[in-house]
Amino acid sequence: MSALEIRNVSKIYPNGKVATQRADISIETGEFVVFVGPSGCGKSTLLRMIAGLESVTSGDILLADERINDLEPADRNIAMVFQNYALYPHMTVFNNLAYGLINRKYPKAEIQKRVEATAKMLQLSEYLHSKPKELSGGQRQRVAMGRAIVREPKLFLFDEPLSNLDAKLRNTMRLEIKALQRRLKTTAVYVTHDQVEAMTMADKIVILNRGTVEQIGTPQAIYHRP
Ligand code: ADP
Ligand code: ADP
Repeated sequence: MSALEIRNVSKIYPNGKVATQRADISIETGEFVVFVGPSGCGKSTLLRMIAGLESVTSGDILLADERINDLEPADRNIAMVFQNYALYPHMTVFNNLAYGLINRKYPKAEIQKRVEATAKMLQLSEYLHSKPKELSGGQRQRVAMGRAIVREPKLFLFDEPLSNLDAKLRNTMRLEIKALQRRLKTTAVYVTHDQVEAMTMADKIVILNRGTVEQIGTPQAIYHRP
């Protein structure tokens, strides 16, 4: 069973711009898939359609064999990590992590348990009462990841999460994200314009060009052709 199926998906924006053309992508459970390509090739559009933040013009998106085209984002069991952290500055780390679960009316004990386990995994346990501005860039990035992890989603989506970080932190976080995904075994789609990220993180790379899927393959197959 595929974790995620993108079948013949196209996106035409109201202004007539064709951002995705007949994309076919199949992603297996536990795979780390990277969408790569230059600015404007349609990476974010595709990711946003998967998340439900943008409508699909034609074609189908299936998550664990269920067609999700018409589901609200909150009903998709998908969590997204953004580049700008998207943390709430006035809330503590605990509440940033707990926010989505509180909204969904999870029992208090369950929230406590999940937030503490996530904080531990991300080495944030001693910062649960801190505000985002008291954290380092890497720690903030981890809180952003934690907000996705506590939801225990079927799928993680990463939209260029490291592009605002300096080179050193980017390298560290690249390894951390990859290690975490391996440990959680959650299927992940990661969008970047950075070929190094694609090569080092991906189980499978999808190269997009002007809205079409140009190539799909392992990093070895794509970047080490004889
Ligand atoms: P990428 O993420 O690879 O940079 P995008 O998916 O953001 O690419 O954009 C793909 C194409 O669609 C670009 O030409 C972009 O200008 C266009 N586009 C993106 N969002 C919109 C929108 N809301 N309305 C019209 N065109 C858009
Ligand atoms: P609610 O949907 O109850 O307000 P959220 O803030 O968790 O709770 O969700 C807001 C929307 O943004 C949802 O549609 C959800 O899919 C998405 N979302 C929420 N949190 C995250 C997150 N950490 N990563 C990605 N997407 C999220």
